[in-house]
Amino acid sequence: MSDHAISVRDLYRYFGGLKAVDGVSFDIPHGSVCGFVGANGAGKTTTMRILATLDYPTMGSAEICGINVVNHPEKVRALIGWMPDHFGNYEHMTVLEYLDFYARALGFSGEERRARIQEVMEFTDLISLADRLSNKLSKGMTQRLCLGRSLLHDPQVLILDEPAAGLDPRARVELKHLIRILAQEGKTIFISSHILSELGEMCDSLLFLNNGRIVHHGDAESLKHGSDATGGVYYDVQVVGDPQSVSDWVVLNPDVEVIEARKRGARLRIASAEPEKAAETLGRMVRDGVRVVEFHREQRNLEDAFIDILGQIEGGGPLPAAVMKGDDAGS
Ligand code: ATP
Repeated sequence: MSDHAISVRDLYRYFGGLKAVDGVSFDIPHGSVCGFVGANGAGKTTTMRILATLDYPTMGSAEICGINVVNHPEKVRALIGWMPDHFGNYEHMTVLEYLDFYARALGFSGEERRARIQEVMEFTDLISLADRLSNKLSKGMTQRLCLGRSLLHDPQVLILDEPAAGLDPRARVELKHLIRILAQEGKTIFISSHILSELGEMCDSLLFLNNGRIVHHGDAESLKHGSDATGGVYYDVQVVGDPQSVSDWVVLNPDVEVIEARKRGARLRIASAEPEKAAETLGRMVRDGVRVVEFHREQRNLEDAFIDILGQIEGGGPLPAAVMKGDDAGS
């Protein structure tokens, strides 16, 4: 068996002059969950579609369990479950008929087919919806059906493109639960999402993509903790009176930045992680007349880390140490 479930080397995909994927390399070990993060248009779907054998790279190679996706697409398709970000369902087809249709297309027959469909419907909690028309489902039910479809042949590797997009909080929790079980079963899961906090909770590693290039590949915890090198520390400041007074003060203090205006104040970033710097900043705010009633440190979250990394790149500066640590930074 190959060392990695997914292995990508120097992958490029150009659409005319547009470099959608621009020299990407990464490995995802068997049995791990990897989050794929990037702004709209970063190249996530394009990369995933190549892995799912639905598109060809302009250059470079991609392998699933050691099998090249271009040379052996049939073998790769047997190994992967693919959940696209948009998927069509057929009118006048019930949930059961839909799964039956795909199970037949996958070559299952007789008792085996019935057993696979039953197992998938139980897992995705679709039994009670078996006779519901597949194009009349809620978004959450639809995503469960799409996940069920991708699991029919019990694939080792799941490639899930934005499975949580458009789901309400409850449906997101349900989906996360299913993904957790699949991970516990030892499947390799490559999942893209814009909801970084959720990815951090369920992923062993995160791949950050920007303009078709990987800018970070590492574990979520090291990113969240951060340090001076990864963008300073964060404080919640609450005031009495006008919450805008915090932002007004920051304008005159360039060593402090407003990350988010809040109802009673703001979330600030102070460039240095030294506690003396925080004490000095608080002292200055109070002396300058900002009526602070609360000032406490907040954990850096994945959104902060992602924005820091993008800021470093756009600013042309060197990537932070924690980013360079990644296997394929800047590849
Ligand atoms: P999102 O989060 O919005 O889904 P993404 O990271 O998945 O974005 P891609 O869909 O991979 O990004 O698109 C990357 C770039 O490639 C975008 O600029 C997109 O417009 C372009 N692109 C994707 N597919 C094609 C295509 N078939 N023809 C031309 N350009 C394309």
